Amino acid sequence: MPSSRSAKAAPQPAARRQASDSCRRLEGVGPKLADKLVTLGIECIGDVLLHRPLRYEDRSRATPVAEMVPHGLPVIAVVRVDAAEIRHGRRRSLLVTTSDGGGRLWLRFFHFAPAQQAKFAPGTWLRVFGEPRAGAYGIEIVHPEYQIVEDESAGHDFVPELRAVYPATSGVTQSRLRDMAAQALALLEVPGFWPDALPADIAAELSTGGPVMDVAAALRTIHRPAPGEDLGALIEGSHPAVTRLAFEELLGHQLSLRGRRRQIKTEKAPALGDAGSGLAPLFEQLGFAPTNAQRRVIGEILADMATRHPMLRLIQGDVGSGKTVVAAAAVLTAIENGWQAAFMAPTELLAEQHYANLSGWLEPLGVMVLLVTGRRRRDDALLAPIHDGEPAVVVGTHALFQESLDFGRLGLCVIDEQHRFGVDQRLALRNKAARHGLSAHQLIMTATPIPRTLAMSAYADLDTSIIDELPPGRTPVVTVAVPNTRRDEVIERIGRAVVDGRQVYWVCTLIETSHKLEAQAAEAAAEALSVALPGVHVTLAHGRMKPAAKQKAMNAFKAGDIDVLVATTVIEVGVDVPNASLMIIENAERLGLAQLHQLRGRVGRGSVESHCVLLYQPPLSETARRRLSVLRDTGDGFAIARADLELRGPGEVLGTRQTGAASFRIADLVRDGVWVERALTVADDVLAYHPREAELLVERWAGGGGGYAGV
Ligand code: ADP
Ligand code: MG
Repeated sequence: MPSSRSAKAAPQPAARRQASDSCRRLEGVGPKLADKLVTLGIECIGDVLLHRPLRYEDRSRATPVAEMVPHGLPVIAVVRVDAAEIRHGRRRSLLVTTSDGGGRLWLRFFHFAPAQQAKFAPGTWLRVFGEPRAGAYGIEIVHPEYQIVEDESAGHDFVPELRAVYPATSGVTQSRLRDMAAQALALLEVPGFWPDALPADIAAELSTGGPVMDVAAALRTIHRPAPGEDLGALIEGSHPAVTRLAFEELLGHQLSLRGRRRQIKTEKAPALGDAGSGLAPLFEQLGFAPTNAQRRVIGEILADMATRHPMLRLIQGDVGSGKTVVAAAAVLTAIENGWQAAFMAPTELLAEQHYANLSGWLEPLGVMVLLVTGRRRRDDALLAPIHDGEPAVVVGTHALFQESLDFGRLGLCVIDEQHRFGVDQRLALRNKAARHGLSAHQLIMTATPIPRTLAMSAYADLDTSIIDELPPGRTPVVTVAVPNTRRDEVIERIGRAVVDGRQVYWVCTLIETSHKLEAQAAEAAAEALSVALPGVHVTLAHGRMKPAAKQKAMNAFKAGDIDVLVATTVIEVGVDVPNASLMIIENAERLGLAQLHQLRGRVGRGSVESHCVLLYQPPLSETARRRLSVLRDTGDGFAIARADLELRGPGEVLGTRQTGAASFRIADLVRDGVWVERALTVADDVLAYHPREAELLVERWAGGGGGYAGV
């Protein structure tokens, strides 16, 4: 490039725009619009190019009226006005009768100005665009876009296009988005504006397995497909243009997570090695021997914690696999080394349960165990030792980081049921340690088993351990799906189970999103069960009860004083009553697979055979039917997770907030599974041999509003 001095006296260098510039540098984008664009994930000019259309309108040709079919896609027509009159039917409308020689087409306007009628003088030629439907007289278009044209041939004189329709939001029109895309596409012509970030050797390697398109061509195809392009493939994402970008995005995402991991791994953390007494005293407290899987995972954790760099470890283990014990071992190790541990749970109930477990196991060993939840707010006297850095474990909900709770010496963060927290929350807790100069070790536990590729893609920043063994003595839960019409039989069965000394859960599931209705349903169910089963102790636990009352009910159930616990989904996580061996889940068709699997995990904890009845309201939708049959056929959390992924997609499976999976712009972890694998394989090479491209990929795909910012 010539130096700016030798260039003509134009404002060239200052006006040179870059992909990372704010989209306000595009014409017509002011501060107000820019604010609204943020909700669409558009902040810089590059984001405009990565804003993928939802669908396309075929404006490549005019359709003769005779060829139009109702309920089809929108079409262009060139027609002549025959008449325009106001109709006073059920709703007043302006009806314009037109024809193109081959057939008649009616245009109907419910909102119109008197002047509009005058414009439709007989003989006027129009070019219209809209969706044909069956009207009172024949094919009709309601509120078409239209232009008055000179004559028929002027009507046919338009630039054929397949016009992109973008995800939009209130205050951001399609034409504005199209205009911005046009400006951004023009910038693609400027050398250096959008360098190809896929190194040639990587691209060459890929070309054997799939077509690799030039990146600028891919972007042009997505925003402005040439007439004749396969629109179906573009929309569903199998088109080479989409593949090209999806692969880049997956790679960028992978590189970003690896980079983050590398950076955290360079931080210093306290080395928490074997402090002498070991874990034997803890194991004695438990009253059971850890499984081999638990021992192996504890070993992996202790090896991490003994190093001078932060542990970043994810523990995956099915419901009931005994993750709490594993975490307790890590906590004890931190404390024996003179450091503090924070143990974060997603709900108060679960925090209380962890508190009960940890204090039961660790207090006899002389460990201080504290509980901090939203309700048990910061009590200065109680928390003073924490500020002072005394070794202790603090169990709590997100209140752990929301409160001005100050850890004097935080060495370990345990986060349970990770899918309920966002990445940002996990970092916020970590940062509590950072201010003391050393980073805390991090242990994350999830009960949602995740298929391998998905896990590797979402948790590339974490090491993974899997507890792939259940404690002995567990029996598989026999699961049946029963229509609500056979409710009476189910109630009889509860009666028999209670006579046999068993305990029963009756779970009322969420009605829409109303906790109130859900609570009412639970109250009604408890009432009905008490009436139908005299002499059986039935009690309630739902989210709208006072926590103390709820806890009391749970405790009574745990103590065996209650036969049937009618609960809402509050029992989903963490409740542990081995004698409960029958669970009825009402309206099971409303819940997702993961949630049903979690709920079902509450039974099958003792040695008697357990049963789960999925009570459903017929008729079942196809997906609901598949969900219930997956549960009937398997108790394997991984198989269930795979099925869940297929039925729901990755954003839902992972929890949308947590990984940014839902904020992929182009890629789709299910559709692009093969590309996920490839991105994983080539990521190391890109980092090692193409650092500049790696940086570019991260900036382009993971640097802006795409969900990984600041991660
Ligand atoms: P998770 O959190 O993985 O779903 P928990 O940690 O709540 O599982 O453990 C479930 C139940 O199994 C608890 O009652 C726990 O005390 C018990 N448990 C854990 N490990 C073992 C083991 N090795 N042997 C027997 N019982 C165990
Ligand atoms: Mg648990």
